[in-house]
Amino acid sequence: MIKLHNTKTRRKEEFTPIDPANVRMYVCGPTVYDRAHLGNARPVVVFDVLYRLLKHVYNGKVTYVRNFTDVDDKINAKAAETGRDIRQITDETIKWYHEDMDALGALRPDFEPRATEYIGPMVAMIQGLIDKGHAYEAEGHVLFDVNSYDAYGALSGRRLEDMRAGERVEVADYKRDPMDFVLWKPSTGDQPGWESPWGFGRPGWHIECSAMSLDLLGESFDIHGGGLDLQFPHHENEIAQSCCANPTGDFAHYWLHNEMLQVEGKKMSKSLGNFFTVRDLLEQGVPGEVIRFVLLSTHYRSPMDWTEKKVKEATEALRKWRGLTEGIDPSTNPSPALVAALSDDLNTAAAIAELHKLAKSGDAAKLLASAKILGLLEERLGEWHRPKVKHDQAYTLIGALLRRRHLAKVDKNYSLADQIRNELKKLHISIEDLPNGKTTFEVDDGKEIEFFNSMSIDERRKIWADRLGDDGKTIAIDDLYNGYIGYVVEQVEKALK
Ligand SMILES: [Zn+2]
Repeated sequence: MIKLHNTKTRRKEEFTPIDPANVRMYVCGPTVYDRAHLGNARPVVVFDVLYRLLKHVYNGKVTYVRNFTDVDDKINAKAAETGRDIRQITDETIKWYHEDMDALGALRPDFEPRATEYIGPMVAMIQGLIDKGHAYEAEGHVLFDVNSYDAYGALSGRRLEDMRAGERVEVADYKRDPMDFVLWKPSTGDQPGWESPWGFGRPGWHIECSAMSLDLLGESFDIHGGGLDLQFPHHENEIAQSCCANPTGDFAHYWLHNEMLQVEGKKMSKSLGNFFTVRDLLEQGVPGEVIRFVLLSTHYRSPMDWTEKKVKEATEALRKWRGLTEGIDPSTNPSPALVAALSDDLNTAAAIAELHKLAKSGDAAKLLASAKILGLLEERLGEWHRPKVKHDQAYTLIGALLRRRHLAKVDKNYSLADQIRNELKKLHISIEDLPNGKTTFEVDDGKEIEFFNSMSIDERRKIWADRLGDDGKTIAIDDLYNGYIGYVVEQVEKALK
């Protein structure tokens, strides 16, 4: 039995899916024009845990959708500022987003639709709203008529009069009511646009989530999630659009909102100098798994304070747990107490306390099986914990691999020999067979090596040198280099299996 706090009713409620054979969840995704900051990562990790819990309870039968907003004035501004193509910017940002969220151990949603792929369905939904008398055209714009929908404001508990009073910006005179919001707007010059019944233009932001969720999840679905900052106006507008366009459905049954993130007790902002991206942290050497742990250490409905102290504590706990569970078979059931904690409105703090308890009791298999529901102690997040390979060890490892290739050639097993060469090449290691029968290898450090998180060796070197001081420099470079060789050998061995 899962209980969730539903913003719609302001109560913790039993979760009853519409169809237990297909639990459906929608979470608002990023606008793709820049690296995700740490605050953006909180809903990703929180709803990833909910996704894992639902999969656990409903035997994997969950459909999770998270969109990419790839048409937006912030993206246009970035294109104008950099002179780059919009599609280039959005493609690159989506790639970054995937890399960064993967590093936090977040599973990819089942569907990640892009707004620009849904222009047709958005236009159709807007036309439907006009036909039903919920929207009107004015000066190339199409606006949603908030007075046509009685329940407008119900989710966030606001009344139209109060909202109007709070309206400080200058209101366009083509609006019937200052709170009417844009469904479609005209595009000019080099702004992106599409032909529509209302002229060449582009959609407003809110309509995409309504169109995508309808297409991928239907007119009624189970859970809608997002940051608290999206509750008004974005989610309020999504509800108005969807419920008016599809009167036979009732859109999302459970609304979940995560609270915001602070840094050392202060709001994260560029002017305070405490603004950082997930990538900044990863590059400073904070493992993705540690970031994930810290984000989950506070309940999602409480403000989260990111502190150095928490990072240290999380690192220590994970180091201990990884040591404890090394080589352990996780094929046991997770702790019922942990599942119960998560089922109680996603109480991740209590779930982590349960992991501490399991670690203390020494039940490593249970610890490992339980941690996986939180997305912790997974193999793919463990790179940071693996011991660095020592210098001579690195040579021994790669030496053994090259010997294996040599023997394959002697056996005329050229496909294996080629495979070893190709796998090494993929990881930026070139090998050369010399006339004297020896084979040498070289790390191609001119290229960006994936292992170094897409940083060049020089950049890494600088960071390590800054951190360790002058005499630490050579050790650090060797360490990285040997660590890389160890990683390569491991990857090649895996590929050969
Ligand atoms: Zn949305």
